Amino acid sequence: MAERYDLIIVGTGFAGAFFLMRYLERAPADVRVLVLERGGHDDKRWQIDNRRTSNIAPEAVFRNSTPEKEWLTSPGFGGNSNCWWGGTTRMMPGDFELKSRYGVGHDWPMSYDDLEPHYTVVEEVMSISGPADSPHRRSKPYPQPPHRFSEPDALLKKHFPDGWFHAATSRARVATGTRGVCCASGICELCPVDAKFTVQNGLASLYKDPRVSLQLHCPVVGLETAAGLVSSVVYQQDGKDERADGDVVVLAASALFNPHLLLRSNIGHPLLGKRLHEQMSIDVCLDLGGVKSYNGSSTVSGNGYLFYEGEHRRNYPACMIETWNAPFAYGHPAFRLEKNRWTERLFLRFMFDEIPRDDNTVTVLADNPAMAEARFVGYSDYANRAWAEIPRMVEVLGKALPIERVVNTALGRTTAHIQGTVVMGKDPATSIVDGNLIHHQFRNLLVLGSSSFPTASPAYPSLTISALSLRAADHLMVAKSA
Ligand SMILES: Cc1cc2nc3c(=O)[nH]c(=O)nc-3n(C[C@H](O)[C@H](O)[C@H](O)COP(=O)(O)OP(=O)(O)OC[C@H]3O[C@@H](n4cnc5c(N)ncnc54)[C@H](O)[C@@H]3O)c2cc1C
Ligand code: SF4
Repeated sequence: MAERYDLIIVGTGFAGAFFLMRYLERAPADVRVLVLERGGHDDKRWQIDNRRTSNIAPEAVFRNSTPEKEWLTSPGFGGNSNCWWGGTTRMMPGDFELKSRYGVGHDWPMSYDDLEPHYTVVEEVMSISGPADSPHRRSKPYPQPPHRFSEPDALLKKHFPDGWFHAATSRARVATGTRGVCCASGICELCPVDAKFTVQNGLASLYKDPRVSLQLHCPVVGLETAAGLVSSVVYQQDGKDERADGDVVVLAASALFNPHLLLRSNIGHPLLGKRLHEQMSIDVCLDLGGVKSYNGSSTVSGNGYLFYEGEHRRNYPACMIETWNAPFAYGHPAFRLEKNRWTERLFLRFMFDEIPRDDNTVTVLADNPAMAEARFVGYSDYANRAWAEIPRMVEVLGKALPIERVVNTALGRTTAHIQGTVVMGKDPATSIVDGNLIHHQFRNLLVLGSSSFPTASPAYPSLTISALSLRAADHLMVAKSA
């Protein structure tokens, strides 16, 4: 007979871990929680020895049918928190209201103010380093002081005091009990000094709670339904199918695997698996006259908000700029081959918001249903209008920087931010989950993570993923106690 649990969570990345954290804070001592994770516990020692973060190759779990567009996944305990780079900007208020403010895209079913308290908690847990003069309305300062600007950042800040800010990041400025200080080495997938937050170095204790049973190496293969609810989760253990019954079931398997599992379980919706998306990034490499780069104290040292909010969003996307501060430049020559001038080069990444297209999809791979298939045919016309704006934006930055020439402008292969595929909204006809990430039809099923994002803001997604998980757990616990 199948074991019964109050809660079953699939996945141990940001989405699953922050949900579990809030759930355990509020749940009684006798609840039983099962957490199922496809991968194993590849700890830091293993990761450094093997120079990768998971012993499961991405090709073993999904096929990318359009490989010119990269999607990255790192199955295992902690999910992609093991390989992320630690950028943690909040979304801006307008990102939640694209449709009602600017007449494009979709609104989110909540506002910035609804998420603000949750953002604050996530920043505390991750011990985020950020500026004192953030572009966001904040109820509390960042827990850690900012990283040191690079020289170009300092000039940009001087010229655009309200448009340029220290980067908000989980790459520690000050050592914590479990994390070292970031040293700007720029190999953040691995982070040998464990400076960035990960589930392994920040939230692993949750999984040792006596109420929680963590089962590693247990890929979930489907959900079963009965009487309008999800009744059981089917998973594999030691090559055999096992079943667990749950009162509440939470998918936190990412925007690649949440839709894959729902499709395999015949929990359909006309939009399921559609609207796979991420921000469009355009990388710009500039040569500067007499100003030296790579002297900030973390990999990305500044974020530019000069071209973010505003009426232009009716016509072309908002932009957040990253100043890259590590000699690693996505295929561009990072250094100038000129005597005494080799660091007079600046690499900027312009990240633009995206309105997802229905024809970018995640499906079940026809010849192997155990694998997901990602297909990306292109960015929207809206995002592509960003290209025409780049020369003007560079010209504006030239008011602060002595730009000698533009070395290169190129489309980024990926920002590694997989979003969409199980989108949220208020209307069950045009969305699959509601604002509390509860499935519109199966009300004991929650689908967490960036799969729910209706649009991609220029902000990094994981802080918002984590804040949404806290909000969803709060809502669940209030509903249970009512
Ligand atoms: C190189 C890189 C750099 C990045 N940098 C940043 C950054 O700077 N800032 C930022 O905000 N984001 C960044 N990201 C994105 C970030 O990693 C993701 O947004 C985030 O990890 C998503 O969290 P999640 O919990 O939803 O999913 P994941 O972290 O992907 O976790 C999903 C979990 O579910 C498990 N799972 C999947 N399918 C199954 C199944 N069938 N059965 C059981 N378990 C399953 C997986 O093994 C995994 O543990 C980066 C990503 C990469 C790859
Ligand atoms: S720059 Fe170095 S120390 Fe900082 S997060 Fe990246 S790898 Fe870790």
